Amino acid sequence: MRISRSSRRRTLAFQVRDGVATVYLPPRISDQQARQIVEGKRDWLRQHVEAQRNQQALYSALRPGGEVPFLGEVLSLRLQPGLQVATRTGPVLALPPEDWLRHLERWTRQAVQEHYRQRVEHFAGRLGVAAKVRRVLVSRTRSRWGSCAASGDIRLHWLLSRAPLAVLDYVALHEAAHLCEMNHSPRYWANVAQVMPDFEQHRAWMREHGQALMHSAQPLAPAD
Ligand SMILES: [Zn+2]
Repeated sequence: MRISRSSRRRTLAFQVRDGVATVYLPPRISDQQARQIVEGKRDWLRQHVEAQRNQQALYSALRPGGEVPFLGEVLSLRLQPGLQVATRTGPVLALPPEDWLRHLERWTRQAVQEHYRQRVEHFAGRLGVAAKVRRVLVSRTRSRWGSCAASGDIRLHWLLSRAPLAVLDYVALHEAAHLCEMNHSPRYWANVAQVMPDFEQHRAWMREHGQALMHSAQPLAPAD
């Protein structure tokens, strides 16, 4: 944890970069107050350091023997001759050697279903529209991270499983909030902000890393 003071700062801010957390302090805050604030932020900081580890794994090319982020964890990829389908054992995901990327995608699309459904239902519940959710589907388009149909079908992209959990939550909330407002009006964003006051930072993450995330698929079959 680095502490940086600046007489020009009016507010306190935290930053996590390259696995190092820095707190920026305005002059009016004493060292003791700063320590208390940092103590209170301990979980938040840990989450962010973890999210950065995921990002680093995301940018290293997918390869057998390498790693892939998955719902806030990091899985090691191993090729295993004779295997018919991808099989997870703890932090290791064993894949059939032939077409292993396609097996990885197929496994991931299956493995995320329950988590995606739970998060959408959680946020729809917070917004008071749980009854409007019809199906939660895992999508694989090349252009959209999520969608919400008037029918109540919500789709979330399978590659969101490689984003930090908080970012995935933001997209789940984003789509669930369309069950209240089928637009991006100020009222829509007010609903989002009420459930997730810090949603802007997750939106910013998607703007910054979304393209790299989309490219991490290396799809072998045409996307639907
Ligand atoms: Zn939207």
